Parts: sequence; C-alpha cells; structure tokens
Amino acid sequence: MRRYAWRQAAIAGLALLLMAAVVRTAWTGARTVMVDAQLKDAGRWLRGRVLVLDPGHGGDDPGAVVRGTLEKHLVLEIGLTLKRLLEEQGATVVMTRDEDVDLGGPIREELGRRVALVGQHGAHVYVSIHANKDGCNCWGAQTFYQKDGMPAGQELALAIQNRLRKLTPTTRVALPANYFVLRTSPVAAAMVEVGFLTNAHEQGQLKDPAYQRTLATAMALGLADFFRSQVPEGRAEGGIGR
Ligand SMILES: [Zn+2]
Repeated sequence: MRRYAWRQAAIAGLALLLMAAVVRTAWTGARTVMVDAQLKDAGRWLRGRVLVLDPGHGGDDPGAVVRGTLEKHLVLEIGLTLKRLLEEQGATVVMTRDEDVDLGGPIREELGRRVALVGQHGAHVYVSIHANKDGCNCWGAQTFYQKDGMPAGQELALAIQNRLRKLTPTTRVALPANYFVLRTSPVAAAMVEVGFLTNAHEQGQLKDPAYQRTLATAMALGLADFFRSQVPEGRAEGGIGR
C-alpha cells in the first residue's frame, strides 16, 4: 500500500514537471513571436538607416578571456546576429570586422579606422559591442555614452538600455564614460557591454545563441526607438527614405 502511494506521488510529480516544461516552452515561444512582431513593427524606423557595428577586439587582441571564453568571439557572434536582424528590417549595416581580425596598426590608429567607417559610409549611428570582466561577480548588460558628448549619444544609449532592461534580466542603467571610439565618433555613438564573462551564470547565457539573439533583438529595438525619437514633431510617420 505504502509502495503504491509512493508510485502515485512519483507519477504525479513527473506529470507536474512535464506540464511545467510544456507551459514554459509555450510561454517562451509566445514571447519570441511577440518580440519578433515588435521588431517587424519597428522596421519602418530602421529602413534606410546606415549603421556601423563594431564588435570589439579581434585578431591578436582577444579582449577579456575568462574560463576559455574569448570576448572577441562572443561580441562578433552577437554583432553578426544584430546585423542580420537590422538588415531584415531594411537597414544597411557596415561591420568593422566580420571575422577574427583586427584592423591593424597601433591601438589608437586601429580604433580610429573603426570609427572612420562612419564617415566613409555616411552612417547615422555607431555601436560598439564589448563584454565585461570584473572581480565583483557583477552581471547584466549595460550601455555607455560619451561623457559631455553630443546629446544624441546619450539618447541612443538610453534607448538601447531601456530595451535591454525589458528583454534581459539586467537592472543596470546607461552611464557616461570616456572612450576613444565614443569621443571621436562624428555621429551618435554607444557602447554596449553585453554582460560579465566573470559571472559564471551570465557567461553561460552569453554563449547561448538564443540569448545572443535576445540581446541583439533588444539592441535592434533600442536603435529603432532612437531613430523614431529623432524624427521631428509632426512627422510621426515613417523613418528615413520613405
Ligand atoms: Zn572589450
């Protein structure tokens, strides 16, 4: 009798687990569909825009290296995912690198070549992508803008961070910083630190293609929000080139 009760409980437990998994899968699926629809809707603000995406480091410079994960690989994967999402919405994306290379020369010159692509392609914004490393076991994506830079840079960073807070677990806020690429960009510029490699849980997330897509989607939506906010009052319809 007692053994029978245990069996019943085990079956009930398994059934509950199965139900939870089904509900979770359905919820994740529904959420993906919802977010994809949002991105499609945001497409009109991205159409015709030219963006420079700059996955940090590359080649001899791995960036942060934590437990065998190299920042340069991770930010390239996320950058290429973002490029694909933006292009699907009709934007033109210029990558500073689309493989594991750097742009050559001493660091300042190398960074200068990355930013120079903005002028060469008439880009509307510049977005640098990095991953963080710290001794504090910190976590969460965070966007930076140039301190005392152009107001549009701050607006861009706030828009991206706002979407990151909605779609990823981060509770961080956009902050001013002083980085060469942000300081020298002739157009609105932001740097997204996608998360902390030093946090084991976040490192796992950052390596997961599904989470990479979530990060890229948040950035794409933030970019769309920024472009929408830049359209003068009374011209609520459409983005550029319509
Ligand atoms: Zn970096």
